[in-house]
Amino acid sequence: MTASTSSAIASEIKEELNFLERTNLEFGKAIQFVNSEVRPIGKGVVKFLEQPFRQLIARFPVHMDDGSIEMFTGYVAQHSRLYEPTKGGIRYSPGLDLDSITALAFDMTLKCLVADLPYGGSKGGVCCDPKKMSRAELDRLTRRYAYEILLIMGPDSWVPAPDVGTGQREMAIIYDTYKMFNPQTPYASAAVTGKPPNLGGSKGRREATALGGAYVLEEAVKQGHIQGFSSLKEAAVVVQGFGNVGYNIANNLHKDYGCRIVGISDSKGAVYCDEGLDPTEVLAYKKKVSTENSVVGYDGLERLGAEQVLTRPCDILIPAAKETQISGKVAKDIEAEVILELANGPTTNLADEILTDRKVYLLPDILANAGGVTVSYFEWLQNKAGESWELSQVKEKLHKRMTNAYRNVVETAETYNLDMRLAAFVLAISRAVDIVYERGIFP
Ligand code: NAD
Repeated sequence: MTASTSSAIASEIKEELNFLERTNLEFGKAIQFVNSEVRPIGKGVVKFLEQPFRQLIARFPVHMDDGSIEMFTGYVAQHSRLYEPTKGGIRYSPGLDLDSITALAFDMTLKCLVADLPYGGSKGGVCCDPKKMSRAELDRLTRRYAYEILLIMGPDSWVPAPDVGTGQREMAIIYDTYKMFNPQTPYASAAVTGKPPNLGGSKGRREATALGGAYVLEEAVKQGHIQGFSSLKEAAVVVQGFGNVGYNIANNLHKDYGCRIVGISDSKGAVYCDEGLDPTEVLAYKKKVSTENSVVGYDGLERLGAEQVLTRPCDILIPAAKETQISGKVAKDIEAEVILELANGPTTNLADEILTDRKVYLLPDILANAGGVTVSYFEWLQNKAGESWELSQVKEKLHKRMTNAYRNVVETAETYNLDMRLAAFVLAISRAVDIVYERGIFP
């Protein structure tokens, strides 16, 4: 099966699928391809690779500031035990459900395989709107959720990390709760990554996802894989989402690569400026000046809808918000030559087809945003060894791993004439199948 056959399979599906359905679709295509072109895979092995091995739903109460008690639902999906521990972030988001957590856990398995990390994939989260909760309420919710996941987490079982709506503070609370219940565990700090530096957090973890994405982009340009790009200098960039990943990629590309950040959005809207924006100044405006805690209104610029900015003129588009943002409708009007998927699952199946037809160079999420889990891996190694690495060491090791991952995906794409997303899936699944057959099935 070649890229054109895989595109034919996709084109039979005319409606937009949800994230889990899209992951399953891509997985199905890759399985079919590996089975016919790389090595035969038994049906049972396909099922083993496809399904999460453990899912947890926990409903728990939290005291709110007004004295009332509210019930919340938390989730964990551990997708694969090809390797243990499993690794994956904790998300706080309204509308979160077991399906999206399961899709994200599946994605983590594939990402760890592409990045060549010895982890299975997992994901956790709580259905809540952190923007509508006080700091104290979020702290109590985190401590209670941490208690609920004690059954599963640990340095060699599930090691959570930050994701949308969580950060160092939540990881510190989860670490503290874990340590209180496991006072004798020798490497308790290795039970969670993305912690504050004082608690064993790795230097560079906060910026890691963005930095890893920048290294992938840099390598693609260096290798001459992006038509019309000889350097990133002056390249016009639109970034969707201005949280941890969005701010850091905008800042990094602006400061270290001389890119022009022409558009920035958040959940409330967007700003666009052809001459370029300074991300640090936009962040200061969002945090200190804006009454809406948003980028909109920055420097008197026109107030755009969050989706509008995706189709404004730019060379590089970086989705760094959440899944299912680039739909078929949006993809038709995108002007960018390159899409760097730092969010998980931002592009729909129909958009994928349109972007492939339009020859937009797409750097898929399971490759492009693997920098976060890679530095989490470094943090886990440091915690287990009782070490603290310098930032320069972290960056050097991350650069090596991200460029290797990129080259491996490109090699797969070139060997089998595949688009980059399918190539990343094929690389991951080929590795997974090798591991299953080498390790065998217990008992
Ligand atoms: P975050 O919560 O810090 O930021 C999310 C941002 O997206 C916020 O600025 C929010 O306002 C914005 N947003 C939400 N809806 C939007 C919309 N419709 N349009 C524009 N902006 C919107 O989250 P984060 O940690 O920066 O994660 C962002 C993405 O990167 C997620 O998909 C996450 O899974 C992925 N990711 C994160 C990491 C990590 O290390 N944090 C690692 C890998 C992948």
